[in-house]
Amino acid sequence: MLKTFKRGVHPPESKYTASDPLSEFETPDRVFVSLAQSAGAPCEPVVKEGDKVKAGTLIGRAKGFVSANVFSSVSGEVKGFVKLPSSNGFKVMHVEIENDFKYETESLPPLLERTPAALLERVKQAGIVGMGGAGFPAHVKLMPKKRVDTLIINGAECEPYITCDYRLMLEKGQEIINGIKYTAQILGVGEAYIGIESNKKDAIKKLAQICPPEIKVVALKSKYPQGAEKQLIYSVTKRVVPAGGLPMDAGCVVVNVHTAYSIARAIDNGEPCYMRAMTVSGDGIEKGGNFWVRGGIPYSFIYEKTRGNIDEEKVKKVIVGGPMMGIAQSSLLPVTGKTCSSLLFLTAKNVNTLKPTQCINCGRCMRGCPMNLNPKAIEENTLADNTDKLKNLDVFSCIECGVCSFACPAKRPLLFAVRLAKKTLKERGIK
Ligand code: SF4
Ligand code: SF4
Repeated sequence: MLKTFKRGVHPPESKYTASDPLSEFETPDRVFVSLAQSAGAPCEPVVKEGDKVKAGTLIGRAKGFVSANVFSSVSGEVKGFVKLPSSNGFKVMHVEIENDFKYETESLPPLLERTPAALLERVKQAGIVGMGGAGFPAHVKLMPKKRVDTLIINGAECEPYITCDYRLMLEKGQEIINGIKYTAQILGVGEAYIGIESNKKDAIKKLAQICPPEIKVVALKSKYPQGAEKQLIYSVTKRVVPAGGLPMDAGCVVVNVHTAYSIARAIDNGEPCYMRAMTVSGDGIEKGGNFWVRGGIPYSFIYEKTRGNIDEEKVKKVIVGGPMMGIAQSSLLPVTGKTCSSLLFLTAKNVNTLKPTQCINCGRCMRGCPMNLNPKAIEENTLADNTDKLKNLDVFSCIECGVCSFACPAKRPLLFAVRLAKKTLKERGIK
């Protein structure tokens, strides 16, 4: 029996790149490595113009507890600092590095002691963040304030188009398992589960064959948002994270498969986090696939290398991340980084161009919402600026999965309305 959560939707999978093995993506003659690649504070630069660096040289030191070190992704020379827009639209400082194309590397020192504290310190040193896209520093997540007994590895990859985690599970299974063992050791938990959607049967089979008894592969129903933390916890354990709570409130920590892989690389190979697996896809390009992509590569370079013969005019939307939760881009100036799991180039055929019409009270937004909210009522009361009613609609439980907007036949901008409701309530001091 496939495990699953309540409600959700079934968007077209569009996993066109599923059979493309991971290969290394070309790197331009200059990279621009962002000093803000994680949730929390941006890094403090520790290099200056003219410094020689290697791939893996520390160039930005974490500032504060919730922050993650940043490393050069190529060998070469630091040319200076430049403010560029990041994929969320905010301008942040980037280190400009001239690539010497020698690809010399610098590793972290061998880890002689393998105590939980030493492993955790290595995760921190290596600048590992939640590689599923959230970007929360991994060392912070691995220090829950409450006792947890269950580690869940997120291999759901429920967003349409994205296939890099799938390829990683097929091609780097042993490293992922090593990373899970280290993560479990840090947390002091005895058992771990890898949740994988049933549309990735060969990944389920492959990992089940090599997993030790203390790590169990759980086949999940292919449904969106199966990979959202609260939904994944419910699917795997039937535990419910309380409203406003965190996974630790249900005794769990959830870590993405790529994060587990990066943890193993940092511990076993001394490799800091400067390169990641990424899917480049969509009908606006011809040469998409799954790639190992170094940090600091402009999206414009990725587009030029993958577009083939498709006319630039045809690309109507560029999205970083998946089409359900990703961020539409207004330019190709931003660069790749630790949280950049995919880059999609879509033509009009795959972009919604319909204007919103009146709500027809069909209830699909409510029936689909995995958090059991009433998105239609939230939208109505946001537009009416009715704070008293909004207060009672549990707005802060929204996980911003986009199911409501996807399900709405009237194409109401429901997710936008929920975000606006959260912002309005926060501004009025209501939590
Ligand atoms: S209200 Fe929030 S949690 Fe519910 S479907 Fe919409 S975006 Fe998802
Ligand atoms: S899905 Fe759209 S049309 Fe249907 S009730 Fe919700 S807001 Fe109204």
